[in-house]
Amino acid sequence: MQTALVAGGAGFIGSHLCSKLLNDGLKVLCVDNLITGQEENIKNLQKNPNFKFINHDIIKPFEKHESSIEYIFHLASPASPNERSPRSYINHPIETLLSNSLGTYELLKLANKHHSKFLYASSSEVYGDSEISPQKEDYFGNVNPNGPRSVYDEGKRFGEAITMSYFRKENLDVRIVRIFNTYGPNMTIDDGRVVSNFINQAIKDKPVTVYGEGLQTRSMCFVDDMVIGLKSALFLDKTKGEVINLGNPDEKTILEIAKIIKDMTNSKSEIVFDKMPQDDPKRRLPDISKAQKILNWQPKISLRVGLEKTIEYFRSIN
Ligand code: UDP
Repeated sequence: MQTALVAGGAGFIGSHLCSKLLNDGLKVLCVDNLITGQEENIKNLQKNPNFKFINHDIIKPFEKHESSIEYIFHLASPASPNERSPRSYINHPIETLLSNSLGTYELLKLANKHHSKFLYASSSEVYGDSEISPQKEDYFGNVNPNGPRSVYDEGKRFGEAITMSYFRKENLDVRIVRIFNTYGPNMTIDDGRVVSNFINQAIKDKPVTVYGEGLQTRSMCFVDDMVIGLKSALFLDKTKGEVINLGNPDEKTILEIAKIIKDMTNSKSEIVFDKMPQDDPKRRLPDISKAQKILNWQPKISLRVGLEKTIEYFRSIN
């Protein structure tokens, strides 16, 4: 039986990935220090004898693991930019920088030792406040190197650089995926992301908080589509050394998303406008032609269908 290590496995995307890997018949080592991940996300998985949770901070060397590790997915990082959220990377700046730098280094050393295939989960944030749209993999980005978001943006850029260094110097079997906005069940209520905020505000008839005028855009990918893309990116040999965008190219303004969620939840909430966060990207739209070509992947779940499942999830835990 082959083993996959998922760093950040108790997080939002990581927990879905662990579940799908178990279904595929793999042994899963879920590594998480639970600073933004939640044990609740992996509660059902704990019953599976092929699943093992290890509470560990990836910036420290991974303890001796005798059996082989064939695959490593590195998804361990705080990921929400919302300064109003206790879980955001803005409120965990050092942890965010270290999990993407030292943490990536430690996992790459582990991959080198075990000859594992390695996937680094980077982010559309490496493009910063992009001057071009859609964003294609060969665009170098427009990033503020020391603003409040820099801990994530520059952390991810460092993570990419060290991952590619192991490819060039050690011929390690690595690939980088740049994850665009993703949503779905297992997001935390308080992580401050747009979809979780809007749904939780709407189902409680509280004001829906649109930042700025809501004219900035995002393109929302449902988590099930994302997980299929992540698995293909790691399992296919032809992705070695490649950088691939994963996301849904269905671009919407934030105000449109607020109205759709309000409508789908039959909410009495009013839409209110709040301060725009610093360096908030104005347009985010993935060019996924490379993923379509190399992975034969594209998202299949529409925004309305994905939102329905997400609304149902938040209603069930509220
Ligand atoms: N946003 C908003 N209201 C909220 C949370 C977020 O208007 O309650 C906006 C935010 O300013 C950004 C977009 O929604 O323009 C997406 O924010 P999110 O934190 O989900 O992710 P980002 O794409 O910025 O990393």
